[in-house]
Amino acid sequence: MTFKELNLKDELLSAIEELGFEHPMPIQERTIPFMQEKTADLVALAQTGTGKTAAFGLPILNMLDAAEKQTQALILAPTRELCIQISNDLKNYSKYLKGTKVVAVYGGEDIRTQLKQLDTPPQIIVATPGRLIDLTKRGKVDLQNIHYLVLDESDEMLNMGFKEDIETILEQTPENRRTMLFSATMPKEISNIVHKFMKDYEEIIVGQKNSGAANVEHIYYLTPAKYRYLTLKRIVDLNPDIYGIVFCRTRQETKEVAEKLMQDSYNADALHGDLSQAQRDNVMQKFRIRNVQLLVATDVAARGLDVSDLTHVINYNLPDDPEVYTHRSGRTGRINKKGISISIIHSKEKHKIKELEKMLKKDFIQQQIPNGLEVCKKQLYHLINRMEHVEVNEEQIQPYLPQIMNQLEYLSKEEILKHFVSLEFNRFLDYYKDSEDLNEIHFQEDRNIRTKNEKYPKKAGKRIRLKLNMGEREGIDTRRFLGIFNEVVGDKSINIGSIEVTNKFTFFDVYADQIDKVMNAFALKPQMNVCEVKGNKQIFEEKYSKSNSYSKKKETYPNMNEGSQRKERKTNSEKPWRQSKTARY
Ligand code: AMP
Repeated sequence: MTFKELNLKDELLSAIEELGFEHPMPIQERTIPFMQEKTADLVALAQTGTGKTAAFGLPILNMLDAAEKQTQALILAPTRELCIQISNDLKNYSKYLKGTKVVAVYGGEDIRTQLKQLDTPPQIIVATPGRLIDLTKRGKVDLQNIHYLVLDESDEMLNMGFKEDIETILEQTPENRRTMLFSATMPKEISNIVHKFMKDYEEIIVGQKNSGAANVEHIYYLTPAKYRYLTLKRIVDLNPDIYGIVFCRTRQETKEVAEKLMQDSYNADALHGDLSQAQRDNVMQKFRIRNVQLLVATDVAARGLDVSDLTHVINYNLPDDPEVYTHRSGRTGRINKKGISISIIHSKEKHKIKELEKMLKKDFIQQQIPNGLEVCKKQLYHLINRMEHVEVNEEQIQPYLPQIMNQLEYLSKEEILKHFVSLEFNRFLDYYKDSEDLNEIHFQEDRNIRTKNEKYPKKAGKRIRLKLNMGEREGIDTRRFLGIFNEVVGDKSINIGSIEVTNKFTFFDVYADQIDKVMNAFALKPQMNVCEVKGNKQIFEEKYSKSNSYSKKKETYPNMNEGSQRKERKTNSEKPWRQSKTARY
């Protein structure tokens, strides 16, 4: 179908052609003819991203009488941002329709500017319910000639406590108006409004709830609740180019997580209801233009944010309402791009994942929280990639080159590379060298072992780090290692701690007085070789560089990602882990 077949005015067709709309989206195919040919009201189950603004905007603009200087259409939306977005869309569609005026009015902004805009009544008002009521009380808006009334994101308006305002407004508009109600979900309160205020109506369900949903991969990480933040950092570190929203449940949590990230020098900011409108605008703008890489936000505050090309959505906590999860994850994977929705959960929340899988009819993939080595590896290659593709400004660096060349003359290309990598990379290695396995299974197994051990005398003394000659390439992960260990050693009284699996090896700790049992048991397995490791650093040195003269130079603020101004350092947030690590023994 083409827009031409929808009987729209030439002025509208020209504008939408300029916007690059080639074919109507499914919701537009259904609502545009319906509004123009029928008389009933409309109830549409549709989410943002389905093209609903044009679905109600185009028929309204097509049917309005531009010569009549009265308000004929009213669009109610939950947030100021959505009002602005809708009114901008309508202005774009109507740019060639002479005499059509669209005004957006919303709370949180000086009312005097809006009063001025209403001096001549616009044909279309886009409003948040509270501010509209204020303006009607002041006699600045006349609802008597409303022919078309749109309730957009109705479920959100109700969530935000606008129920009574909406009812007041509906009561003030003429009975013979056409009402179009859009909502992503249909809770009971919406049905109540429909039954109370809409007589004859048709229901439309837009099959594909969100154009992006199909492209979204759903991943979850299992960790004890107290390691949520450390897990978040690992995830972010593993994705150096991340551009995403971290959803929190409460304002308090949002503030705390954002503050911690900022303290840890991540390029993050917070968006929540305690900020003033100006502060919120500022944060959103910084995020939109990608000056901020990670936005930590509550669901309500993020609602007005129209950013469509997020690489990741992170659920710092899973929401209670599965519909909220759909809203969140629908913010990534738009415009045919792949998106990733990550949830950080603990074992008691696993049933929520099952519910979501059922609802979305999609599998959620559990992934292992990356260990320090994996993060370091990823950051190293990212750094090299950035170096390879950096724009070299010959002219600007020319004056300094001769002296630099002179100074480094004695170093080979390989040595220069080693120095460069060490300069940037040692700090990351240093930060992650003692990093813990944050996967919940690790703590569960560990707890199990400890519980069983309670009947044994408490161990004291030195821990020895051992290395098994099997790692990821043999399919080992923490869980498999524990299985192998139990099978080979067969002695549940042995305390194993701090397991780290690398590509080739698995490192783990045991008490000095239990080491013989372990070594003797593994000695009977010809393919398995266990030996002692001298110092944790060996893990990293083995993997990366053995002769790194810079590794002794300790720097507190590693900065692997200058582009995003993100730095890494040891923080207080690591402390609970460190305490728990020693407490386990
Ligand atoms: P909405 O659901 O109204 O927020 O629209 C989602 C996005 O789709 C917006 O960026 C619109 O500009 C765009 N859009 C709406 N209708 C069409 C269409 N027929 N063809 C292409 N893009 C569209």
